[in-house]
Amino acid sequence: MSIIKPGVVTGEEYAALVEACKKGGYALPAVNISDVNTLNAALEAAATTKSDIIIQMSNGGAGFYGGPSINTMEMKIKGAISAARHVHMMAEDYGVAVVLHTDHANRKLLPWVDGMMDYNEKAKKETGKPLFSSHMIDLSEEALDDNIGTCAEYLKRMAPCDISLEIELGVTGGEEDGVGSDLEEGADNAHLYTQPDDVLQAYDALYTIGHFSVAASFGNVHGVYKPGNVKLRPEILINSQNLVQKERNTGDKPLHLVFHGGSGSEKDKIAEALSYGVFKMNIDTDTQFACAKGVGTYVDQHPEAFKHQIHPETGAPLKKFYDPRKWNRDVQKSMVARLEEAFHDLQSYGRSVCN
Ligand SMILES: [Zn+2]
Repeated sequence: MSIIKPGVVTGEEYAALVEACKKGGYALPAVNISDVNTLNAALEAAATTKSDIIIQMSNGGAGFYGGPSINTMEMKIKGAISAARHVHMMAEDYGVAVVLHTDHANRKLLPWVDGMMDYNEKAKKETGKPLFSSHMIDLSEEALDDNIGTCAEYLKRMAPCDISLEIELGVTGGEEDGVGSDLEEGADNAHLYTQPDDVLQAYDALYTIGHFSVAASFGNVHGVYKPGNVKLRPEILINSQNLVQKERNTGDKPLHLVFHGGSGSEKDKIAEALSYGVFKMNIDTDTQFACAKGVGTYVDQHPEAFKHQIHPETGAPLKKFYDPRKWNRDVQKSMVARLEEAFHDLQSYGRSVCN
């Protein structure tokens, strides 16, 4: 079915990739990157497993990519654009489809989205293609009408530029880079579960405007915590699909669903969510840990190289051990190994639409 060329997919190609995932009952990992090492590791994992991938940045991640010493919105816009241009330059050589996306933007961060849209529109005009495939706007902390109303306004700008919008209904627990809500231990945490009626309202407001996806909350939480308070209830996802299908006479599973806070989730709940039309699962915490483990193991193996340029006992030069490429390569290898596991869990391993 190879109709999609390797590289960054946007517009109709992106929509076709989402459909392929849903039809095939699999999802793509959406990997948060924050520098060129993690970005290249994500691309490498996709290429070696022949799987398509979503590469995304949070506002903080984009700022780190752009250069953390200058903490301005402008730098976070440019950081995101710089990473996107790197991917456009390289992605084709990896032989898979790559989705470029940005993560949570609450109302305070809308200027970030505005800034990236300026670059998207310029790129679309010049090359026929925007830089990003999709952006997320997360106003889930606000009243439903405000959330959906603002998202509709943004989608009116994004759709003509071939960009999809990810919205959030209900609240993903925990925190992602300073955006998010606290987990109330012991409370019933009803706000952690999306209401199907809310999803229907969003569908009605957005489906005529352009392509969109919904991050629905079914007890998922950012970060990895001790098991206990929060219970994953993936049936919420199929209830939303069924309500929209029934009320609006659509085909099977009309919604494109996104699973935030995928790190640390039980494998059987992931599998269940996939069968309900989830095409994207965010993974950040687990790959962050994989990076730390990679460098930690390396430091344990070569402790002297992190304290001395010449071995204090043997007198041997240690340059080949402290060269940043050496230990950053182990960061990448560890992240690639963790992503291979993610592709398996999401059943997307080896299923690139570019194959
Ligand atoms: Zn999230």
